[in-house]
Amino acid sequence: MKTKVRFFDNVTDVPDPRKSILEPAGCGPDVAEVDEIVIQGTRSVYLRAAMYVDDPRLPILQGRFQALGLEPLESRWDEFTEAELDAAPLLVMLYDNNDQVFGGPRLGTTYDMSEACPRCGAGARQTSAMIIDGEDLPKLEGRRAAATYYDDMLVDEKMAEQLASAGLSGLSFRGVCARMEDGRRVELPWQQVCATRTLPRMSPRSTGIEPYKPCACGRSSFTNPSEVPLRLTYRAKDVADIRDVNVTWEWCGEVKFNGDVSKAVFPCPLFLVTPKVRRIYLGAGVTGFKWLPIRVVED
Ligand SMILES: [Zn+2]
Repeated sequence: MKTKVRFFDNVTDVPDPRKSILEPAGCGPDVAEVDEIVIQGTRSVYLRAAMYVDDPRLPILQGRFQALGLEPLESRWDEFTEAELDAAPLLVMLYDNNDQVFGGPRLGTTYDMSEACPRCGAGARQTSAMIIDGEDLPKLEGRRAAATYYDDMLVDEKMAEQLASAGLSGLSFRGVCARMEDGRRVELPWQQVCATRTLPRMSPRSTGIEPYKPCACGRSSFTNPSEVPLRLTYRAKDVADIRDVNVTWEWCGEVKFNGDVSKAVFPCPLFLVTPKVRRIYLGAGVTGFKWLPIRVVED
């Protein structure tokens, strides 16, 4: 595993940013670029840089940012080898933000709220097919797997059959419908992949996941600050009895809930699967997912 860091900043006011920031740090086009954009006569200059955290140029580059009073947006993430991904007990499954489809309570998907938190909706149990926005159907074209903004995992029917016949544990399916502009509901040749197992709470040693508007239930709403690598950590005893398909106890993301499910924005759990599931996705030529191994600690 290697950790990478990326910087992004508007450096329009910095005289010759290549010379004043990048050159002293020895950062060439292999790790950094400066782009000039002119929109309606207004010139903006942006700097982008990305490198591994053990790159000796990194502290010099950060020193240049500091000397010039710059505070670039920073994001950090871990990169894994194929062998590391394959040896992980569980992988967090994350779908590309740009290709997600809109689905869930505001489109008519129904939920049993009897065991959910009345303030944030964490623990809402879906009771109908997943209903997605008909306007997003083009995003599913040519794809075999996708996800909603709320990490509801979707696969085409053939892929669902492949998953079902692979003998995976903890897996169930629901139908998927589209709500069209005229209000019609159309059944789609897709299935929602559901987890029957909710894992215990994560270890507090997890990083990159923290409450940003904590709810009294303690179960939401978590967010991923970009400058800290997302590292979900579990106690060994809590992952001794995992399934192939699981969700986190913690629910992430924005919350808007006043008791009316049809207007709710629920937080959502993260989806965690074994490498066996990833291999089926890769074998089917699925793209657009990021797979992030969990960490396991003794206590
Ligand atoms: Zn709550």
